[in-house]
Amino acid sequence: MHRFFVPPESIVADVVAIPRSKARQIARVLRLSPGDEIVVLDNTGDEYDVTLTEISADNAVGRVTDRRHTSGEPRRRIVLYQALLKSDKFELVLQKCTELGVAAFVPFASKRTVVRERSGDRTRTRRDRWLRIVEEAAEQSHRGRLPKVRDPITLLEACEQANGVVLMPWEDEHSTGLRQMISKSASIGSRDSEIGIVIGPEGGFSEGEVESARERGVTTVSLGSRILRAETAAIATASAVLYELGELGT
Ligand code: SAH
Repeated sequence: MHRFFVPPESIVADVVAIPRSKARQIARVLRLSPGDEIVVLDNTGDEYDVTLTEISADNAVGRVTDRRHTSGEPRRRIVLYQALLKSDKFELVLQKCTELGVAAFVPFASKRTVVRERSGDRTRTRRDRWLRIVEEAAEQSHRGRLPKVRDPITLLEACEQANGVVLMPWEDEHSTGLRQMISKSASIGSRDSEIGIVIGPEGGFSEGEVESARERGVTTVSLGSRILRAETAAIATASAVLYELGELGT
């Protein structure tokens, strides 16, 4: 069954007016017809079974036949603070970590970030692409809410804003391992406190950055003796944390 996020105001009583871009996809790409069923998500945590009633080239309307709470959201919020990477790598992280269940992405710039700062229109275009990737991945993977994608900040701002337990994989950490920290994190703090993951750029973090992060309460952890690419480190750490929380099958 195809799933679509729509703004909550698109649903009035039991009628859903599907926004134009999705209506086009329904009509032209998926070639659905009146009578076909879809699932609509309002991004507040509810989902609706909808029977399409009217479809034209760029307009679609449906009627709600059932409403329920979505089951696609992890019980605990995982926030991924990810250093900006070359665009294909960053987009891979957004897509895969959305599938896994990350609740929000916070891009940041750090000392060894190699991606050029962009301005104006190019920043907007990049952000629109990120939002599209996250939305498609969330629909495909049966998420109940769209992960947030924040505007880029600095590493220090990221460390200051992060809530709950914050884990920073660092290849020069040799005493504390991810496994030991996440089993502690899964049980410590209030059950709904966030878990933050901070992943560096292709070139890693500098010693100074690690020091400043630690001063702000961030815990550095090792991902073992192999050095992973940044995008691999992000996906592997999110997977491990969600596994420990029982969110990849109990
Ligand atoms: N600059 C380093 C590697 C950076 S890897 C080098 O070339 O040697 C990019 C990011 O992935 C790091 O900032 C870190 O967050 C994470 N990472 C990769 N492998 C890791 C490991 N074995 N332990 C902890 N973190 C790791």
